Amino acid sequence: MEDKIKRLATNLAEIIPEPKEPQQVWDSLRFLMREQRDYFQKIPPENIIKVIFYVWSLKETGNLKLGEKMLNEISFALIFHHEGNYHKETCGHCDGQGSINCDECDSGKIECSECNGGGDETCEECDGSGEIENDGETLTCSECGGEGVVSCGECGGDGVVECNQCSYGNLTCNDCEGDGDVDTNEYEFFEHFIVTWDGYIKYRCEITEEDTDITMSEYEFDKRSAEFITLGFEESHAKFEPWVKENEMYCAYYSDNPRLKYNSEMEIVTSNYNLNYAAK
Ligand SMILES: [Zn+2]
Ligand SMILES: [Zn+2]
Ligand SMILES: [Zn+2]
Ligand SMILES: [Zn+2]
Repeated sequence: MEDKIKRLATNLAEIIPEPKEPQQVWDSLRFLMREQRDYFQKIPPENIIKVIFYVWSLKETGNLKLGEKMLNEISFALIFHHEGNYHKETCGHCDGQGSINCDECDSGKIECSECNGGGDETCEECDGSGEIENDGETLTCSECGGEGVVSCGECGGDGVVECNQCSYGNLTCNDCEGDGDVDTNEYEFFEHFIVTWDGYIKYRCEITEEDTDITMSEYEFDKRSAEFITLGFEESHAKFEPWVKENEMYCAYYSDNPRLKYNSEMEIVTSNYNLNYAAK
């Protein structure tokens, strides 16, 4: 079996581009694994871990010794963090539209209160009679042409005016302020499943596993990115206990020998950890 793994690593080292960090070996390999899923799915994730370190070793030194040394030192950790961003959900009040129909009007128009929608108002010149008395002579009212009514000055004869509550019948949704989605009290958070050979990261994870203590800051974690490989990365959302601070990393699980599996993206993840201690 070990020979088979080493042979696979040797073959892969010939087609994988030169890596600057071990992470890049895994990124290239995962790309191949997704393309040839049927073949790679049959290889246990534990063996793929070995392949990663052997390929790195071959690329760095031309032999497998460095890889064997690193494999003796590795541990796995599930580290999570959030960045203070609340998870958003579609606004239930407006179904994500950001606006609702105005209940004062029909498509932005309301009945003119001046003419009650008729569009006309009584001619003031003739007081509605259509006629004007002048020196005993009866003349047709020139203002209304004898009709007794003129177009309503408020609505110009349309019978309707613009609704001043809304815009074309749409009201901005108050619940989401027009965004279409609303904050929940859950945070967006990130899970990093890593394999590391770095003494400091291993020590921090070991002493803070499932603890309320910070494992390291996000800054420190990023700074040490050459000292671990992120095997799997997932985004989710949860309501956290108050002690979980933003931009700090916490270790939910630490093990030398976890149960590994592939997720749908052919990333390597573990199922035997639990976030319940941090999430409500
Ligand atoms: Zn809304
Ligand atoms: Zn309206
Ligand atoms: Zn009117
Ligand atoms: Zn008139």
